[in-house]
Amino acid sequence: MGKRIIALFPSKEYRDSIIQEAVLKSGTIFNTLKVETTPTHVRIMGEIKANEDKAQEFIRILKRMGGIVKELGAMMKFDPEKCVSCGLCFSLCPTKAIICNKDFSIRYDFDECILCMNCVNNCPVNAVSYLGD
Ligand code: SF4
Ligand code: SF4
Repeated sequence: MGKRIIALFPSKEYRDSIIQEAVLKSGTIFNTLKVETTPTHVRIMGEIKANEDKAQEFIRILKRMGGIVKELGAMMKFDPEKCVSCGLCFSLCPTKAIICNKDFSIRYDFDECILCMNCVNNCPVNAVSYLGD
């Protein structure tokens, strides 16, 4: 399991080779999961496969190239006090980011999250939220 990040580049700063350059300079592997392009920005979601030092170097390089980089785990929040263990989010999550414990309590592992927003948009008590990027 690697470190999932979102990197946001203003369109004028972005080049197709940015990720490849950062991979070569940092000695990491990067799996791109999603790329979204708007008239003003390019938003890349992906997973860095490397130890912590190399992953941080990869992030520093992207920032030097003009990117805003956030680790995905820091963008989501789960409040177990609000959760009523209905299991809806667990059934809707496309990854293994939501774990149902033996006692039916719910646990989140945001390292596995791909920000599909199914849990955020469907939780009946707003126990999970997106903090934004
Ligand atoms: S946002 Fe999507 S992938 Fe992430 S925890 Fe919620 S349902 Fe799972
Ligand atoms: S949908 Fe909300 S209340 Fe239901 S299990 Fe998930 S976090 Fe808890």
